[in-house]
Amino acid sequence: MNDCIFCKIIDGTIPSVSVYEDDDIKVFLDISQTTPGHTLMIPKKHVANIFDYDDSLARHVLPKIPVIARAIKKSNPQILGLNIVNNNGEIAYQSVFHSHFHFIPRFAASDDFAMTFKDNSSNYSSEELEEIASRIHKNMED
Ligand code: AMP
Ligand code: ZN
Repeated sequence: MNDCIFCKIIDGTIPSVSVYEDDDIKVFLDISQTTPGHTLMIPKKHVANIFDYDDSLARHVLPKIPVIARAIKKSNPQILGLNIVNNNGEIAYQSVFHSHFHFIPRFAASDDFAMTFKDNSSNYSSEELEEIASRIHKNMED
């Protein structure tokens, strides 16, 4: 993956402000610092997004999420909460196509990060919700 900026961060050809690394992951500060302490965790294996994680990669990478979350929270008493964001696909705001998890510390309701969840619940009958849930359930891997 020669032209992947996150692979270049892993191999050191692009600098980063490193927080932690082991055989499976690298953790470094997001250059944008949307809020102070905005951190990225990436798998060392190049996968484009969450759809490409096999069981083994998931077992090596995902359990580290709460460890990193707690370290960030403990690093600054002013951190009141933390958004963990994982964008998958351009439509979902992914701009770097090497899977990554954002850890975005939250300091106040009016800090520099926001998310919108529109409430569309009145548009759905319970049958329609059951149908959606069932379609997802049928596609669960063993
Ligand atoms: P996304 O939009 O979810 O794909 O997020 C990509 C993130 O990578 C953005 O928040 C960028 O600020 C961040 N980013 C891009 N290049 C670098 C870099 N060289 N060092 C650190 N963070 C970066
Ligand atoms: Zn990569």
